Amino acid sequence: MMQWSVRRQSSWVQLAGHQGNFQLSEGGEVLKRFSEVEAVCLQALMADPLRPFVPQYHGSVNRGGNSYIRLEDLLSGLKNPVIMDCKMGVRTYQEEELTKSHTKPTLRNDMYQKMVKVDPTALTVEEHEQRGVTKWRYLQWRDNTSSTSTLGFRIEGIMMENGSIQRDFKMLTPAQVTEALLSFTKSHLHILKAYHSRLQALDEALKESTFFKAHEVIGSSLLFVHDWTSKASIWMIDFGKTTPSPSTVQLRHDVPWAEGNREDGYLIGLAALTSLVGQAISQ
Ligand code: ATP
Ligand code: MG
Ligand code: MG
Repeated sequence: MMQWSVRRQSSWVQLAGHQGNFQLSEGGEVLKRFSEVEAVCLQALMADPLRPFVPQYHGSVNRGGNSYIRLEDLLSGLKNPVIMDCKMGVRTYQEEELTKSHTKPTLRNDMYQKMVKVDPTALTVEEHEQRGVTKWRYLQWRDNTSSTSTLGFRIEGIMMENGSIQRDFKMLTPAQVTEALLSFTKSHLHILKAYHSRLQALDEALKESTFFKAHEVIGSSLLFVHDWTSKASIWMIDFGKTTPSPSTVQLRHDVPWAEGNREDGYLIGLAALTSLVGQAISQ
């Protein structure tokens, strides 16, 4: 596993998720708002071949009346880190969210507003009248208007070393992703190569992982991190929607999703991402 040699105060930043879900803690840790689902995953991952690819998990803690998960701060010791959050898989919603949208639909005005802001024409007349959409409808729209459904991953956010953050990319094609990878790494070959080997090592570890065999991995990200000293690494984060697959289902992770098959397409995304980093190296 990569060890950062210089330990210094973290320039911590949160690329995705609700602001307020995280707190910076002392001793190279970050605190993330507690979720039972995520805590159970992290606990299992600490005894799995994937452990070197996951931030160290130190159990939970109570702060100001709220429970938090204690995680290794992956930015600790980095100077002006450059970070990219890639959300993995061919869908970012759970099958339960789809079922709920049919059986017990709750209309969300905040999600409707987000859609209207980007593309009012994406909404039906009925949705405009209701001024609301289900969470599933919103998440599926996000998947279909990004590279998630076609490539099996999407870039959620990038922070450059000057602290500038870019989110809400309109990135659909492989060529657009390659361009983003080149700009994120400033075309530095050794950084791209370090990322490429780390992705290949992750693929090997996933093959050995009992955790991966038995879980449906939804909405989880790969966090790419490098800094001016050119250390570069990739970590698996965000297990809030990662759940044990039903005992009757043997997940493959490399086939398309169809309702009921529970497939997440994680390996479709990993293969596409690895191949695009490879292409960026040869450009
Ligand atoms: P969402 O489900 O909307 O993606 P979330 O609330 O589950 O968000 P995460 O995705 O786990 O939160 O993390 C959000 C961001 O916080 C990441 O993109 C990353 O920038 C940062 N982050 C998360 N965990 C760590 C960590 N261990 N070390 C450093 N940064 C982290
Ligand atoms: Mg996330
Ligand atoms: Mg999450």
